[in-house]
Amino acid sequence: MAEHRVVGVEIEGGSERVGDPHVTFLCLEDRRRLPTLRAISNLRYGVESYYTENAGVRAHLRVVGPCSRCGEAYLRADEGATLPDSLLSVPPCPPLRRLGTKRPPPRP
Ligand SMILES: [Zn+2]
Repeated sequence: MAEHRVVGVEIEGGSERVGDPHVTFLCLEDRRRLPTLRAISNLRYGVESYYTENAGVRAHLRVVGPCSRCGEAYLRADEGATLPDSLLSVPPCPPLRRLGTKRPPPRP
């Protein structure tokens, strides 16, 4: 199964950890921007897996839940449940590159 490193996340309601923050998008090393729901189903069906890497320590993402607040399944990266969730310390996704609005190259 292919493993993909998560290099960015988008967190619902910004990065403030108030209320009930969940990661809504994963940004992967191969530049994909993957909705969390898709990642959850990929993990459940064994299509591919994801991990974070922080100071050389890898933590694989796993599906947990349902969340006690909103009842939805969500993702955590806390290898073996022995480490804190490192998914929420991944930096924000880089800004979206606008696709389809690229101007043609200038003529010489
Ligand atoms: Zn929740």
